[in-house]
Amino acid sequence: MHKTLDEVKVDLGDCKRCTLCETRTNLVFGVGNPNAEVMFIGEAPGKQEDLGAEPFIGAAGKYLNSLLELAGLKREEIYIANVLKCRPPENRDPKVDEIEVCSPFLRNQVRAINPEILVTLGNFSTRFILKTDRGITGLRGQVHITGRFSVLPIFHPAAAIYDRSKEPIMEADFKLLGRLIEKRREERAQRANDSGQDN
Ligand code: SF4
Repeated sequence: MHKTLDEVKVDLGDCKRCTLCETRTNLVFGVGNPNAEVMFIGEAPGKQEDLGAEPFIGAAGKYLNSLLELAGLKREEIYIANVLKCRPPENRDPKVDEIEVCSPFLRNQVRAINPEILVTLGNFSTRFILKTDRGITGLRGQVHITGRFSVLPIFHPAAAIYDRSKEPIMEADFKLLGRLIEKRREERAQRANDSGQDN
């Protein structure tokens, strides 16, 4: 039996399992629809997220909200969380030991939500979910299957704000996400139809 999101939150508590607890303002658990069809996974909170205790509320979050429309999604329909729940100082890259100690909570969040599609934003979450050393540039733009999940790696929105030449790629990838959602919904409807005919 999987834990509920509330139980995962209680397990995490006022976590001091790694040194990031010493520099964070807030632990950023995750937010959104607990029954989401699509779960987005980022890297770690940034400055605004650390202050606001919510993922993707800074400039990258605003950009993400506009991209969601291209996939036919509203922010309240999705769930969004990060691999690390606390901000690394100066937004440095997560360390291996930090990912190791924090990631079981993300795993339990994924199990609790049980989405159909995981969208991994950037290198760290993509490598973690796909268990690969390959970089996001070679992995984005394709749907990967891991277990029962369809995984769509996309550049981190912050990377596209920094490098505007990535914007058309971001737009293409969110349109691809929209098509993937449609496909999964059609497959679900077909399965329901088939099982109805069997009865
Ligand atoms: S990053 Fe994760 S493991 Fe480290 S203190 Fe924060 S919640 Fe705990």
